[in-house]
Amino acid sequence: MADHLARALTPDGSVRGLAVTTTALVEEARRRHGTLPTATAALGRTLTAALLLAGTIKRDERLSIEVSGDGPLGQILVDATPEGAARGFVRRPGTHLPPRRGKLDVGGAVGRGLLCVMRVPLAGGAPYRSIVPLVSGEIGEDMARYLAESEQMPSAVGVGVYVEPDGSVGAAGGWLVQGLPGATAETLDRVAASVEAAPPPSELARRGHRPADVLALLLGEAQLLGERPVAFRCRCDHERVTRAILAMGRAEIEDVIAKDGKAEAVCEFCSERYVVEKRRLRELLAAIE
Ligand code: ZN
Repeated sequence: MADHLARALTPDGSVRGLAVTTTALVEEARRRHGTLPTATAALGRTLTAALLLAGTIKRDERLSIEVSGDGPLGQILVDATPEGAARGFVRRPGTHLPPRRGKLDVGGAVGRGLLCVMRVPLAGGAPYRSIVPLVSGEIGEDMARYLAESEQMPSAVGVGVYVEPDGSVGAAGGWLVQGLPGATAETLDRVAASVEAAPPPSELARRGHRPADVLALLLGEAQLLGERPVAFRCRCDHERVTRAILAMGRAEIEDVIAKDGKAEAVCEFCSERYVVEKRRLRELLAAIE
């Protein structure tokens, strides 16, 4: 079944849940960036968390997550839209650590540091930025702390990636559960108990649970609000590359023509490689004049 996100609400309207499968999306991220297993899990969990959070924001915003830890992985940068497009990268994709207690050591690869969540208005204007210290670097716990502290919503987040022995992504997915204003202690306690008892998110995805099944498991009786597909999608294109080249200025473009003959650019977010040939560079140069 294709990757998708589902949203649901408890019958009393006081607890909302989102769940998503991201197996193909995370596998595409792995393939594009050539990540090793620990880096794959770190990037995949962050992509999954960004899609869940983007599912709670307004249509005219984009969500971006930056994880800056002092571990070997370096920075993780991801963004996602409410429509279900996500993209992202890790600074050092070749990071792989020995497993800890039988699990990929994402916390060790990330290290200690900060989590920054930004909501960027699509129409322009200042982004809404919020920064909290990392709890464990395992991403799920860090996101739950961000939601509790910055958005003052009692939340639980589970994100997981299962990496096959050959390094490919076997399963990935996650869920987000939030108590809304007016939630009773009784409902919150009941959902908290289901969250506590639920298998790890990577296990749920591995067993082939659909997002709607996961929400039924976590929320109990719940009203499904909607489902939508999610996919790895970048916003880069030839036009952006052209604008970046124009921004280099005349002298530098002349320099590139003289030295390499052509310009090459690789998109950080998706590793797509763009080549601009000498003839096109000359045209751009003429356009400047
Ligand atoms: Zn790109």
